[in-house]
Amino acid sequence: MKPTNAPKTYRVKSFGCQMNVYDGERMAEMLSERGIVPAPDGEDADLVVLNTCHIREKAAEKVYSDIGRLTKGKTQAKAPMIAVAGCVAQAEGEEIMKRSPAVSMVVGPQAYHRLPEMLDRAVKGERATDTDMPAIAKFAALPERKRTNPASFLTVQEGCDKFCTYCVVPYTRGAEISRPYVDLVTEAKKLVHAGAKEITLLGQNVSAWSGEDEKGHMIGLAGLIRDLARVDGLARIRYTTSHPADMDDDLIAAHGEIDKLMPFLHLPVQAGSDRVLRAMNRSHTAESYLRLLDRFRAARPDLALSGDFIVGFPGETDAEFEETLALVDEVKYAQAFSFKYSPRPGTPAATMEGQVAKEVMDERLQRLQAALNRDQFAFNEASVGKTCEVLVERKGKHPGQWLGKTPWLQSAWFEGEAAIGDLVQAELIEAGPNSLAGRMLEPARSAA
Ligand code: SF4
Repeated sequence: MKPTNAPKTYRVKSFGCQMNVYDGERMAEMLSERGIVPAPDGEDADLVVLNTCHIREKAAEKVYSDIGRLTKGKTQAKAPMIAVAGCVAQAEGEEIMKRSPAVSMVVGPQAYHRLPEMLDRAVKGERATDTDMPAIAKFAALPERKRTNPASFLTVQEGCDKFCTYCVVPYTRGAEISRPYVDLVTEAKKLVHAGAKEITLLGQNVSAWSGEDEKGHMIGLAGLIRDLARVDGLARIRYTTSHPADMDDDLIAAHGEIDKLMPFLHLPVQAGSDRVLRAMNRSHTAESYLRLLDRFRAARPDLALSGDFIVGFPGETDAEFEETLALVDEVKYAQAFSFKYSPRPGTPAATMEGQVAKEVMDERLQRLQAALNRDQFAFNEASVGKTCEVLVERKGKHPGQWLGKTPWLQSAWFEGEAAIGDLVQAELIEAGPNSLAGRMLEPARSAA
């Protein structure tokens, strides 16, 4: 590869989960620190970071087609410098380097703090791959948080030890690790100083977070949330994603005690059949999951629930799929994510017998999504007439219109005098399937 001009503009394209969004923001911060600026909308960037997701169907093929689109019809001098990051980079980095000469850098999710060094090498014409997993070192090496959105993310935990049989995360993100308490409190304060009013604590298994507080006591996620709730200027706290096995009494109690902890819980169940859950290595049953939700609802009666579902796991019968629908009917989710099973190379489920035909999965997904959409709309309709705070996240399409989130993570819009980052008292007046219309009641307030 020939030496190339140092890039002046960049674009980071993040796919997949919120952890990737967080990683993408941190990579953008590092590039900005180097004096490289975001490419203006509609213009080509000199450097493109494809921050990939391995959960996407045919994830690797999509990376190759993105690379093809970026380089099509361009000479080497005109083509952007390309870095592939994220979980596909971790899982298939060597292969990407072999197959795609247009890629200068492959960097895994635990190694992206070394992106600037890799960039220096790429400018000299060297190609570099880094898929090490020194997760904590990564956070220490990242630049300080200087700008952010009103609703920000903070990664507190990475990796997963659960080994669900369909999932690549334990292989791409490594074992469960918790970031140190002090680092998290410091980063949260910096985010608030930079304008965050809401922080969502992120982790592949966020409820497995543990650490030593400033007095040297071991605490879990609930303890961390309690301490973050004392940060002046921070109005809202959320966390995602959790595994039912790690939800302890303290975290349940926290939902009843801490006003700043929003009344929302994303707790994936994946299926309603105990046989399928065992085959997935999920370590909970449908019944134990439902009883866990009862305890959360007892602590916080207005809790909105969200979940993840996979239909067509190998061997799933029609009757077992009906058990998923029955569970959905019982829980009445406020929102949910649902997918067709798709095999991930290297996972145990990929080679299980009884792979379900695509048409069967299509039909099951349609039925499941119809039920989930019905419940989401019903939840939104039941919110009409409530008065709540909406955190303004952006302008709407029309002048004077604002978009934000309710405490239950519903999108809501309203008209009036406000600004991004305001907390606005609004009455919810009309429900749609995916959002609500509100009426502003009081001038906006800053966070307490
Ligand atoms: S708990 Fe979540 S991240 Fe961990 S293996 Fe299961 S699905 Fe993957």
